[in-house]
Amino acid sequence: MSDAILVLNAGSSSLKFAAYIAGHGDELEFEVGGNLEELYGAAKFRARAPDGSVAGEHTWPAETPPRHEGALEFLFAWLREYDKDAKFMAVGHRVVHGGVQYSAPTRVDAGVLATLETFVPLAPLHQPHNLLPIKVLQQQRPELPQVACFDTAFHRSSPPLAQAYALPKWLSDKGVRRYGFHGMSYQYIASVLPGFDAKAAAGKTVVMHLGNGSSMCALDNGQSVASTMGFTAVEGLPMGTRCGSVDPGVLLYLMQQMNMDAGQIEALIYKESGLLGVSGLSSDMRVLLDSDAPDARFAVELFCYRIGRELGSLAAALGGLDAIVFTAGIGQNAAAVRAKVCSHAAWLGVELDEPANEAGGPRISTPGSRAAAWVIPTDEERMIARKTLDAVAI
Ligand code: ADP
Repeated sequence: MSDAILVLNAGSSSLKFAAYIAGHGDELEFEVGGNLEELYGAAKFRARAPDGSVAGEHTWPAETPPRHEGALEFLFAWLREYDKDAKFMAVGHRVVHGGVQYSAPTRVDAGVLATLETFVPLAPLHQPHNLLPIKVLQQQRPELPQVACFDTAFHRSSPPLAQAYALPKWLSDKGVRRYGFHGMSYQYIASVLPGFDAKAAAGKTVVMHLGNGSSMCALDNGQSVASTMGFTAVEGLPMGTRCGSVDPGVLLYLMQQMNMDAGQIEALIYKESGLLGVSGLSSDMRVLLDSDAPDARFAVELFCYRIGRELGSLAAALGGLDAIVFTAGIGQNAAAVRAKVCSHAAWLGVELDEPANEAGGPRISTPGSRAAAWVIPTDEERMIARKTLDAVAI
């Protein structure tokens, strides 16, 4: 029997998973991963082996959707068949919000779950879906330890100034403050950075997680000291469909002059803005980079300009800059975006090595560059698996 860790990342109608075999020490070997989609309709399951080949597929008729409950039962049964030797010792869940209480992954019991439920109003679009599989597994497999790994936890090390809004104190006491997200990704990058650049790992680095959701994090000696996302995952950079920071006066204008209600504004700022809204074409960076349409070009320019501005802000929070790191779908793959961002960062001492950038790195700055630039793939699932293993080994 080999010990295994299952990582789950649940959305409103989807369930992503990854299974790891625990080896010696904190070694974890990725065994299989995939997702279940449209859990409340004509659901689809697809799993992939480490080499990318399809390891399993299944579909459900629309009349009998599996829902989250059926999906979890199916997944455990499928995993048992896939590797009869694997014994799951714990499940690690991606949970978006850990409030101010949780600064580390936490083993979930009834009390912890009750506390996590109180954070639902802080992240109504994600938190309830993240918690649902925990509740289902507590029923289906009460003996199986479950660990919640929070997107916010890594930023709890930021100084109080970086976590504050200039709002009345009673509001910040009620939890209206800057939390920051993408913590699993930043923690993963912080954990592997010493292998790429010892000086940057011990020094001042800005990591840019640029995907459908995008944010940036200032790391000082591997600790988060500031990030672009705040109370929710809509602050900061423009994203695929999210607007990023806007003057709060815009929201008042929409309410008072355009009679938009909360639901309409939520749809506007989360689903209809960002790259999609500005380009009028797509939220997908590949489509925009391939397009000659002026609005598509403008959307890409705006994205890079705003990254450049936030970089200046985070470098100020750090009091210097030793390196920048690009990661996630856009950061790892879009050389044109990296080149534009590096040109915005020239004043901070970043000198791009163009052939290295075209080749995808990992180092994409010239040997003489005052601040280094790197492309480092992130792996949030592996980070969750590691943290889950740590939490149950205690
Ligand atoms: P998520 O935030 O959903 O995890 P990803 O990290 O997978 O998203 O990033 C998705 C984004 O990465 C999309 O905008 C997609 O266009 C972009 N992307 C993926 N591959 C490429 C590529 N080869 N060139 C440019 N952009 C890419």
